[in-house]
Amino acid sequence: MESLTEQCVLSREPEQEQEQEQEQEQETADAVNPPIAAWMPGPTTVSHRIRQRLLRAGVRFHANDNIADFLREGELDLLQDEIEAQLQGVLHALVIDVENDHNTRETAKRVAKMFVREVFAGRYERAPRVTEFPNVERLNELNIVGPLSVRSACSHHLCPIVGRVWVGVLPNASSNLIGLSKYGRLVNWVMSRPQIQEEAVKQLADLLERRIAPDGLAVVMEADHFCMHWRGIKESNAKMVTSVMRGAFLNDPALRRELMTLLPGRGQGAV
Ligand SMILES: [Zn+2]
Repeated sequence: MESLTEQCVLSREPEQEQEQEQEQEQETADAVNPPIAAWMPGPTTVSHRIRQRLLRAGVRFHANDNIADFLREGELDLLQDEIEAQLQGVLHALVIDVENDHNTRETAKRVAKMFVREVFAGRYERAPRVTEFPNVERLNELNIVGPLSVRSACSHHLCPIVGRVWVGVLPNASSNLIGLSKYGRLVNWVMSRPQIQEEAVKQLADLLERRIAPDGLAVVMEADHFCMHWRGIKESNAKMVTSVMRGAFLNDPALRRELMTLLPGRGQGAV
């Protein structure tokens, strides 16, 4: 018996090594290519190819991240088709008779287009072209831009977030200035992604700070969250106000007060 056991142990050793090796290989593969869950699009899909590129590059692809650099020509059309097919599956799973219900027959197609080309376009499109001008007049006064419209969606429920944003800029002699209308385009690009408001405001502040390089930058956002109106607590009056203060706005309470009292369309000291 003893020798048999030994033999068994001996004969298992290379097998164990092999198993260990296989496990290690699997772990490495998992890091690049996580196991495919049943709900995950298969390896022949375009979303799979894009996901692989992002994983290989070690780039984050949360709901509010832009992935335009990882899309190749024509892939957005294919992605839209893939999303349409998946949404059709969701409608079927909701037990909606999409074949016979004339109202939902084209819903998957419409929603896929709306996601990719409109409401979440800020994930797939490159940043809008915005020309920066040197601050030749050496302006150093407080500028406030807004209210600018915000249309976004919460990443928890994919419900709309609709609101307004104000941007306060305190430039210095070496800051870049950007045209008024361009603020709206940048806001739209950042907001057209599933978000949470606190992160959206921070993303916008980071983007503007990089572009303008001011002494101080403030972003104030006030918005209605339709996931509160429509579901959950069903509270229709609550608005969410979030602000981010950078540089001079952070260090100078008087400047911060000045900004808050000057915000066009907002009550005095309402923030
Ligand atoms: Zn929500």
